[in-house]
Amino acid sequence: SWSYEAATESKDHIQLKEQYELFINGEFIPPVDGNYFETINPADNQVISKIAEASDEDVDKAVVAAEKAFKKWSEMPGKERGKYIFRIARLIQERAREFSVIESLDGGKPIRESRDIDIPLAANHFFYYAGWADKLSYAFPNRKVKPLGVAGQIIPWNFPLLMAAWKIAPALATGNTVVLKPAETTPLTALKLAEIIQESGLPKGVVNIVTGAGITGAAIVEHPRIQKIAFTGSTAVGKYIQKAIAGTDKKLTLELGGKGANIIFEDAAIDQAVEGIINAIFFNQGHVCCAGSRLFVQESVAKLVIDKLKDRMNSLILGDPLDKNTDIGAINSKKQLETIEGYIKIGLDEGGEIYQPACIIPEIGNWCPPTLFLNVSQSHRIVQEEIFGPVLAIQTFRTVDEVIEKANNTPFGLSAGVWTEKGSKIFYMTQKLRAGVVWANTFNKFDATSPFGGYKESGFGREGGLHGLKPYLKFE
Ligand code: NAD
Repeated sequence: SWSYEAATESKDHIQLKEQYELFINGEFIPPVDGNYFETINPADNQVISKIAEASDEDVDKAVVAAEKAFKKWSEMPGKERGKYIFRIARLIQERAREFSVIESLDGGKPIRESRDIDIPLAANHFFYYAGWADKLSYAFPNRKVKPLGVAGQIIPWNFPLLMAAWKIAPALATGNTVVLKPAETTPLTALKLAEIIQESGLPKGVVNIVTGAGITGAAIVEHPRIQKIAFTGSTAVGKYIQKAIAGTDKKLTLELGGKGANIIFEDAAIDQAVEGIINAIFFNQGHVCCAGSRLFVQESVAKLVIDKLKDRMNSLILGDPLDKNTDIGAINSKKQLETIEGYIKIGLDEGGEIYQPACIIPEIGNWCPPTLFLNVSQSHRIVQEEIFGPVLAIQTFRTVDEVIEKANNTPFGLSAGVWTEKGSKIFYMTQKLRAGVVWANTFNKFDATSPFGGYKESGFGREGGLHGLKPYLKFE
């Protein structure tokens, strides 16, 4: 029979170490300076583990290991490389439950999401790119392609294992070697991945994982013998990286911030659209680069949609990320919570009208209730700037041209959603919206076979699909 206990994922069987080392040249080794930082469970603010902090010297060791491994790895037949990548995918699948619990503990996301989305998509990414490893000559006919060398990869905290998969899988399939740095608030699943990589027998040094904060990331960016930087994170750090590598021959891809527009036309299936709005902004507490953080509703259905949306928000369950009933988990860090609360204050100061359901907020941990703002306009900061939290800014529109103009009017260009029953309107909108991805009658849908990436200040380069191979190859 059902009980609250039965609905809560146990963490007793999860083996977490008190201290984690760096993964360099296939071994777990302590950092040269002996420095460690703490990773914290955002749902109770308790320390989970101590994590090695890589210095410049440690990053250099990782680059040397990756350089040494490059010759053997890049010259290995694609079919053999593919087998290793396939093995990593299988091992993620086998440990999926453990990965899900660790992801939710370290990052605060609901277990339902890590279990059903993050971890399966990460495994799929490795499966997908394992398949390309021996087909590069089919992918790029009549072109001679070669790997670049050592790829430095830096990832954020919102989809920790999935972002590691997005980076590592295409790099390995194309014959590159890797130095990857996870985000400082969510290093645990990348380190678990390192254990799996060791178990898979992948040749030593092909993948190296160095933990640390921005300073470790900067050591990767500035390392002279790294040939490619793949960065996912904030627009501010992306701009720094562009400047830092200017004048070098390093290749660069940037996946940065967003301010996605979710557009509901009067002819949409309204109940389906309301679910889509909820998913677009409250999935993963809104810590999603492509979140639908701006909602545009056609005036004739605005009242109906907003009433239904408020009702649906009232039924969202906020709380323990390990509870399978939870819809909204913990905000990833205290710092991020302060940022979100700062934006809510800005929204109110600018004259926005707020709605938050009366949900019970746990006493400890970092929490933010689902929030919407009405009475906002294009110039408001909460409409223009990325909040990266569960905060939705709502505007109405009358005509198609008006909503296109408004939707395109931010510095970002990552995602958009269109809700209408009319196919021709979908095709028209996808041509007019300046966004790397436009979803039709859905939102936040990802697949390893589809390219993903931005326009404008959301970055450049594409990850996923055939397009995701190109940034790791030289064409001769
Ligand atoms: P962030 O830029 O602060 O950090 C991202 C990573 O960069 C972390 O690993 C961090 O340690 C590292 N870093 C920080 N300073 C650095 C420096 N000077 N040099 C090198 N590395 C440095 O971003 P965040 O707060 O971790 O992540 C949130 C941001 O990421 C949001 O803006 C979000 O939109 C973006 N994001 C984009 C995508 C995408 O695909 N476009 C996906 C997820 C997140």
